[in-house]
Amino acid sequence: MNQSRYSRQILFSDIAEQGQRQLQESRVLIVGMGALGTVLANHMVRAGVGLVRFVDRDFVEESNLQRQMLFDEQDVCEKLPKAIAAERKLRRINSEIKIEGIVGDVTPMNIDSFGQDMHLILDGTDNFRTRFIMNDYCFGQGIPYIYGGAVGSRGMQASFIPEDTPCLRCLIEDQGGAAETCDTSGVLAPIIDMVASLQAIEAIKILIGKKEKVRRSLITFDIWQHYQHEIKWKQNKEQCLTCQMKEYPALQPMKEDQFTALCGRDTIQISPTQDTKWDLTKWKQRLEKVGMVEQTPFLLRCTIENMTMVLFTDGRVLIQGTEDISVARSLYTKYIGM
Ligand SMILES: [Zn+2]
Repeated sequence: MNQSRYSRQILFSDIAEQGQRQLQESRVLIVGMGALGTVLANHMVRAGVGLVRFVDRDFVEESNLQRQMLFDEQDVCEKLPKAIAAERKLRRINSEIKIEGIVGDVTPMNIDSFGQDMHLILDGTDNFRTRFIMNDYCFGQGIPYIYGGAVGSRGMQASFIPEDTPCLRCLIEDQGGAAETCDTSGVLAPIIDMVASLQAIEAIKILIGKKEKVRRSLITFDIWQHYQHEIKWKQNKEQCLTCQMKEYPALQPMKEDQFTALCGRDTIQISPTQDTKWDLTKWKQRLEKVGMVEQTPFLLRCTIENMTMVLFTDGRVLIQGTEDISVARSLYTKYIGM
């Protein structure tokens, strides 16, 4: 073991040489290499975690540079996938560990190929759809899921450990839509650093076997309005479909059936997973910040990224201008959220 590289961490008595060795034998998966993901990966790689694997489906864009700490203008010019740009940079930071950047989209069908043999999963995503997939997968496999989220100047963080703490589904309803996203509300870089740093330290505690030091609460804080709120873990939700009933609904392939290509119409339809009633005026306020919006009593039409999204009050969305389900899914998760 390279003592001098990790000396400041080894001097910290709760970690010491034994903890450092455990980090070196650890394997973590980071889902999403955007704002949270780049900070998470930076911490995991510098701390000396033996294998750091990450998955991301996007390319580096200019609008990422304000907060996605591992990327630079050169990556934008080269239009590099985030997973590749991050891998290159991280290898220069620590060549003594294994780093695996994967260009891809985490789905119920493939999450096992990324997550098997991992000691925990770190949440670097920006949408609840993928979060519920991670939550359900982790609870099915018995590995911790380290959740983090940031929108605007607000952040939240919690660590969900199977057979120990409640899970994400105990806390938040899977609502089939209507979540605020960074693509509609913006986000400030410092809140991301704070959330991801909280995730990183909880991950380190778990990896070195100091579970008793893990913070057992959901914290929410706002660095602009100066508030902080903490909900301590009490009980798991009765009949929670994930941690109690062990049904893991987010992993059911049915979710993929939500996306239907409408033949010959260059349109993908996305159906809600459950009964939904949307307030289109609220959606108008949110979407007019990012695209051209037109509202009628029955629907809302939004032109965005050379495509048109049509929202209906029953939670149905049409994406016109593509026949590619993955393109539609990406637009949907970006602007609709779930
Ligand atoms: Zn639960």
